Amino acid sequence: MISDTIKNEIRGIVGDEWFLDSPEDLITYSYDGFLPEFMPDAVIVPGDRDEIASVMKVANRERINIIPRAAGTNICGSSVARKGGIILAFHRLNRIIEIDPESRCAVVQPGVVNAELQKAVAAYGLMYPPDPASMFVSTIGGNVALNAGGPRGVKYGVTRDYLLGLEVVLPSGEIIRTGGKTLKNVSGYDLTRLMCGSEGTLGIFTEIILRLVPLSPAKATLQAIYADLDDAATTVSAIIGAGIVPTTLELIDRTVLDVISNYGDAQFSDKAQALLLIEVDGEDILVEAQGKRIEAFCKERGAFQVERASTPEEADRLWQARRTAFGAVASLRPNCIVEDATVPVKMLPAMIRKIVEIAEKYHIQIGVLAHAGDGNLHPLFMTDLRDKEEMERVDKALVELVEAAIAMGGTLSGEHGIGIAKDRFMSMEFSQTSIDLMRGIKKVFDPNNILNPGSFL
Ligand SMILES: Cc1cc2nc3c(=O)[nH]c(=O)nc-3n(C[C@H](O)[C@H](O)[C@H](O)COP(=O)(O)OP(=O)(O)OC[C@H]3O[C@@H](n4cnc5c(N)ncnc54)[C@H](O)[C@@H]3O)c2cc1C
Repeated sequence: MISDTIKNEIRGIVGDEWFLDSPEDLITYSYDGFLPEFMPDAVIVPGDRDEIASVMKVANRERINIIPRAAGTNICGSSVARKGGIILAFHRLNRIIEIDPESRCAVVQPGVVNAELQKAVAAYGLMYPPDPASMFVSTIGGNVALNAGGPRGVKYGVTRDYLLGLEVVLPSGEIIRTGGKTLKNVSGYDLTRLMCGSEGTLGIFTEIILRLVPLSPAKATLQAIYADLDDAATTVSAIIGAGIVPTTLELIDRTVLDVISNYGDAQFSDKAQALLLIEVDGEDILVEAQGKRIEAFCKERGAFQVERASTPEEADRLWQARRTAFGAVASLRPNCIVEDATVPVKMLPAMIRKIVEIAEKYHIQIGVLAHAGDGNLHPLFMTDLRDKEEMERVDKALVELVEAAIAMGGTLSGEHGIGIAKDRFMSMEFSQTSIDLMRGIKKVFDPNNILNPGSFL
């Protein structure tokens, strides 16, 4: 419990209007894209960096937990007050401070929505590549804190690859800057990268410097449909193995295709067991050649239908199935648990077979959606949290799935993070020594353990 005196001190810093503690407000901030709910003691929406620094000084002095939260779309429960405390929201820090075409970078506040930045830099002929499927809602601050990826990750990498520098408010209230606008920087330990993916546990980002790249002049979008899921999965590893670098290489299985057809306009042949959505971008000649090569590749490996978009509208239509997948799946059962285990691309076919086996073994409906080109699977567990018996089976299936991914040389999470969803699995991937090192790092930044203490450590 936070005393009224302290609440009033924090109110005095952020202003009455931006200190929320009515039951309705607290409920709104009690959950995120992961499902469990934890009621915070209060929510604050500071207007600038200095207010955040002042609040942190009070919180550190009084040992009050502070949980940074942006759009709340994370699906690992890393923005909830698991151990109580104050949610710190970033809605008001939503300004693009600068787009600098000569240095090919942008400086933004953390609450800028990813898609808004994409639109703004496109006007300069530039692109900010990380494109999480949540890009129309999720923020750059949240993307940095979870090192978000997206369909373009196969060619362009993830948020970390575009993060040049940060302004960070530490748990003590001190402010540091890491990195800068230079494309090269090897001075000292790389604190910028350490912050990226830190899930709001080390510091609060108040300014973010991002690298931009030129927009590609041309792009080709293809859709290949298979009667056999295994053929689709082996096409993925074959394309990557052949040295083709697609921008996007997404896989959708029959279970998800069925849900998509029932939900919207897209229809698929009864024969279809899997769909690959493939995109390449670059110079015209290269795109043309790669498009043809991929088309041939898919046919040789069993695709019975390959379609290539010849207009932007057709490309949009081919993307429709992938774009509606999450919404469609959410309409099927009361809850959907989105898994994120990731394996080396060569192991993708084996991992997909394993998921099918697990679904049969535990009698659970699991759809497969994957950023397949980088081995990042999103098995979708369609379930009902209220059904205890089913949840026990789901839990066993989740454990088996994570164990399989680790055994194949994979990782617990490709892009969604650990949070409270996967903290219990950390010792499967990391030795005790590695976990102790992470705890030691946390202690250096946050000796009183007040910043997002309920999260993965
Ligand atoms: C439909 C759907 C599709 C998705 N698709 C993808 C996808 O393709 N790829 C992907 O990677 N993820 C995806 N996600 C997950 C999620 O959108 C991303 O993790 C995103 O980066 C979260 O951003 P956010 O603004 O919602 O942050 P939040 O969920 O509010 O917070 C995420 C984390 O960031 C911390 N944080 C937020 N702001 C700051 C800050 N300024 N300083 C320090 N810490 C901060 C929080 O404490 C928390 O730990 C998807 C989610 C949904 C619901």
